[in-house]
Amino acid sequence: MTPTDVQRIRLGITNCYLMGGPHRWILVDAGARGCHDTFFRKLGRLAIEPGDIRLIVVTHVHFDHVGSLAAIRQRCGCPVAVHVAEASMLKEGRIVLPPGTGPFSRRLIALGRRHPRIVERLYRFDPVVPEIIVEHDLDLGGFGVEARVLHTPGHSAGSLTVLTASGHAAVGDLAFGCRPFGANRHMPPFADSLEAIGEQWLRLAAAGARWIHPGHGWAFPAGRLPGAAVKNG
Ligand SMILES: [Zn+2]
Ligand SMILES: [Zn+2]
Repeated sequence: MTPTDVQRIRLGITNCYLMGGPHRWILVDAGARGCHDTFFRKLGRLAIEPGDIRLIVVTHVHFDHVGSLAAIRQRCGCPVAVHVAEASMLKEGRIVLPPGTGPFSRRLIALGRRHPRIVERLYRFDPVVPEIIVEHDLDLGGFGVEARVLHTPGHSAGSLTVLTASGHAAVGDLAFGCRPFGANRHMPPFADSLEAIGEQWLRLAAAGARWIHPGHGWAFPAGRLPGAAVKNG
C-alpha cells in the first residue's frame, strides 16, 4: 500500500474527505442535501472516478453530513458504514437536533424544537440502508487504505473518526476548524456531551493523530486539541 493521501471536497458549509490513493479511496461524509452534482464535479477535477470510492464512512447522522449520501452512494455503488447508535436514524431518515453548547446555539435549537415543520423542510435527507454497522473500531485495510475507523462519541453518541496510519484524522463534528456562534476554540456549537468530547480529543492525540480534518472549517495540528480540552474542561 502506498502512503495515504487526503483530499478535501468542500460542499457548502461541510467538508467531505477522500482518504487513500489512486483507485482506492474512502469517502468521509456526504454533505447537505442537493450537493451531489457539485461533489461529482469536484471529484472529476481530482481525476477520481466514482467507482474508485470503495467505502463511504458517515461520521454521524446530521443533515449536513448525510444530505447527499443517497445520491452519492448510488453513483459510486459502494457500501456505507455508520455507527450502531445512529444506524436506525440513517435507515429512517430521522432528524435529531443535538443540544447547543453555547447561549446562541442553545437558543437556535430551542427555536428549532418549537418549529418541527421548518426543521423537517430544511434538514430532511433521503434514508440510506448501511451495509456496515460499526460497533467499536473498524480496520480499513481490507478496502486498500491504511486507516481505521474509531468510535469517538461526544458531538453525537455514534460519532466516528477515520484515522490514517500517517496520522490524518477526519473527525466529523468532534472538533471544529472554525468558530461559529462564538464557540470556544475547536468546540462544536452543538454536542451531546462536552465531557466526552474532551476525552476523545485526548484519545485522538494519544492514538497518533497529527492533523485534524474537521467537518467544518480548516485542518489544524492535532497538538492543539489536548490544550483546548483542558481549557474547555
Ligand atoms: Zn453534526
Ligand atoms: Zn456538521
